[in-house]
Amino acid sequence: MNCREAQGLIHGFVDSELDLVSNLEMERHIHECPGCSATHERLRAMHTAVSDNSLYFQLPAGVEDRLRARLRKVNRVENRVRAIAPSWRGIGIAAALVLCIAGTWQVATTRQRFSTTETIGEEVVASHVRSLMATHLTDVPSSDQHTVKPWFNGKLDFSPVVADFADRGFRLDGGRLDYLDNRAVAAMVYRRRQHVINLFTWPTSQPDLDIKTFDRQGYHAFRWTKHHMTYWVASDLNPEELRQFAGMLRNIE
Ligand SMILES: [Zn+2]
Repeated sequence: MNCREAQGLIHGFVDSELDLVSNLEMERHIHECPGCSATHERLRAMHTAVSDNSLYFQLPAGVEDRLRARLRKVNRVENRVRAIAPSWRGIGIAAALVLCIAGTWQVATTRQRFSTTETIGEEVVASHVRSLMATHLTDVPSSDQHTVKPWFNGKLDFSPVVADFADRGFRLDGGRLDYLDNRAVAAMVYRRRQHVINLFTWPTSQPDLDIKTFDRQGYHAFRWTKHHMTYWVASDLNPEELRQFAGMLRNIE
């Protein structure tokens, strides 16, 4: 990728709208090119600033009802005094505008709430691919769960599940810190023959969910939630064996 191509894709990159391959090529280019890296930093800062939650305003309960009541009243008054006071009409239009804005807010916040599974799935697969390309697949390379689990102490605000299934052909290879869903998460690395499996975990407020599949660009992923923890496994391993692995993990108490 050259700078011209990178500049054409950089807005999509900042908005997380690129496909996996373009995303990885962009990451590599930005890593190597100081010019595009500076542009990226600037855009990212701007993006963070405008998506800052403090700029979003949650409409207090009851405001919509009060506005509707006011609007009805205004309309009644307007009908009565239209002949002598045409400026009331302006107030009616203003109130309608406020209602429109309130509606837009609602749509925006609903969209924010439902963007999750799809975007997180993309992030999970991208993280898996990146872990294979990068030089450090693990921060703590060890097949001993009693070495891997304590390594996360003080690095995360939760204690991740670390299990070893070497006796069933899924060998623990280590763990590392990763970043998904806007937070630090635990990534455990397992191996099944020559295939690497990443298991990502982090806390959630969601209730328990059964295992669901998510496929992207030749990679398979499964997700579930249990005991207020979210789990994602991702690999190029065949879906049957990966599903079996997910099932074993979900059965741990
Ligand atoms: Zn460049």
